[in-house]
Amino acid sequence: MTSTTASPAPTPMVEAINVRKLFGDNEVLKSVNLTVRAGEVVSFLGPSGSGKSTFLRCINHLERIDGGEISVNGHLVGYRRHHGKKYELKPKEVAAARRDVGMVFQRFNLFPHLTALQNVMEAPVFVKGVPKAQAQSRARELLDRVGLADKPAAYPAQLSGGQQQRVAIARALAMEPALMLFDEPTSALDPELVGEVLDVMKSLAADGMTMIVVTHEIGFAREVCDRVVFMDGGVIVEEGKPHDIFSNPQHARTKSFLSKVL
Ligand code: ADP
Ligand code: MG
Repeated sequence: MTSTTASPAPTPMVEAINVRKLFGDNEVLKSVNLTVRAGEVVSFLGPSGSGKSTFLRCINHLERIDGGEISVNGHLVGYRRHHGKKYELKPKEVAAARRDVGMVFQRFNLFPHLTALQNVMEAPVFVKGVPKAQAQSRARELLDRVGLADKPAAYPAQLSGGQQQRVAIARALAMEPALMLFDEPTSALDPELVGEVLDVMKSLAADGMTMIVVTHEIGFAREVCDRVVFMDGGVIVEEGKPHDIFSNPQHARTKSFLSKVL
């Protein structure tokens, strides 16, 4: 900061305050607080069932939260404010808000009857109304970006898991999201295909994309992420810089988890 006048802090990309989520009686998220700044890359670690996927799904309007607040890029998730009051978003407004967020899942969920190029063009054309020619040239750029410039005409079944996941990343990027969420994007891949997907994610991070990545890839978290969040039992147990969390975890639960994965 060179300015001497106090400027307001920039709006965080994600701000979660006391977020609670229940499935029936099962409190899956218990007062989760998290702030992610624009350009930050944050990885989520934690045992299975700790609430990582649910939290990502809440950020992306795929689940409704039962308490607290989440905002993405300054917009309340699920609600808008008017004269200080909160109003539930209408389905159209939810759809608009979700366009800020790209999500990549463990299972790539590509449309099997569409080519790689058509998969990437689909949402810009049919959701955003981008002219076809423009969407197509952008889709080609994005396939190039994920290292698949030679595969526009391939159908998902003709691609390896790693290639399909890279198409899925290109497809998410096609909506020009401000935030990318990755939920164990390499967990379903054969080990020899993990690296090519992580490399694409690394280059996105280097380009300044804001990312939240649920992963068991400790090497990626250590090398690429600005911050590591360890979650267990629906709470954030601790968070910090990768070096601190991996070399000097403070909590017994973090130590125990890391001793199994490191
Ligand atoms: P993680 O991604 O850390 O493995 P999840 O967020 O998938 O954890 O799950 C957290 C808890 O929420 C688990 O106990 C899981 O069984 C439960 N859960 C997740 N989704 C649902 C759902 N749609 N209905 C009921 N329970 C769910
Ligand atoms: Mg999960």
